[in-house]
Amino acid sequence: MPELPEVETTLRGISPHIKNQVVTEVIIRHPTLRWPIPTRLPELIQQKKLLSLSRRAKYLLLKFDTGTLLIHLGMSGSLRIISKESPIQKHDHFDIHFANGKGIRLTDPRRFGAVLWLGESPHQHSLLANLGPEPLSDALTASYLYGKSQNKKVCIKQFLMNQQIVTGVGNIYCTEVLFDSGISPLRAAGNISLSRYQRLVDNIKKTLSLAIEKGGTSLKDFVGSDGKPGYFKQELNVYGRSDQNCINCQSTLTTIKQSNRTTVYCKQCQT
Ligand SMILES: [Zn+2]
Repeated sequence: MPELPEVETTLRGISPHIKNQVVTEVIIRHPTLRWPIPTRLPELIQQKKLLSLSRRAKYLLLKFDTGTLLIHLGMSGSLRIISKESPIQKHDHFDIHFANGKGIRLTDPRRFGAVLWLGESPHQHSLLANLGPEPLSDALTASYLYGKSQNKKVCIKQFLMNQQIVTGVGNIYCTEVLFDSGISPLRAAGNISLSRYQRLVDNIKKTLSLAIEKGGTSLKDFVGSDGKPGYFKQELNVYGRSDQNCINCQSTLTTIKQSNRTTVYCKQCQT
């Protein structure tokens, strides 16, 4: 699944090609994504200039003077820069073409992605209104998390993956930062000291920054925004290493399911 670093990398990859360009054509091939692509989208953005591109959590926001278009990559989606002649593949659901001859194309085999029109107050939309702070912003601090965690019995893994607490700490990175911080994924969020939250916050920022720097993790069904398959593979210490040895203590890593998501951790190093 594309996580925050992949979305940030996509944003950085596509922006220089299409920012300030006028939309010439919107092509909806398969409108049935997670929610239907609005049929009136072509009339809303055709002949309009794309004023800016930004990211909130894992949502890409394309701002026009008529309103904001949201794109989410879902479980398996990718956006890449194409030309008008780029051959259409099976899972290419949606294109926006621009006056400079470039376009963006959403490819999404599992169709959990989304293309939604948010109108003029995007941050009031139900998908965005209740999101927690961005992990790389100054708003994410140890004292913020510590405050939110008071009296919470929910385990720390679920607490960190709750988008209303903090956005963009997905399964891969959550698993990794808990290992890096020596915190058991099963520990109750309300039973973690401020100093351990400090270590956790430092590791969240470090890990996500590093992943963005490296262009995201390698994902088998992800296509880079420049059309090259995949991203640089990132070193992962625990995620994807079920039954292998812990890099610190050599004991066998433990794999569990939490809210239907796989967690790998070291029972010796994470308490
Ligand atoms: Zn260990």
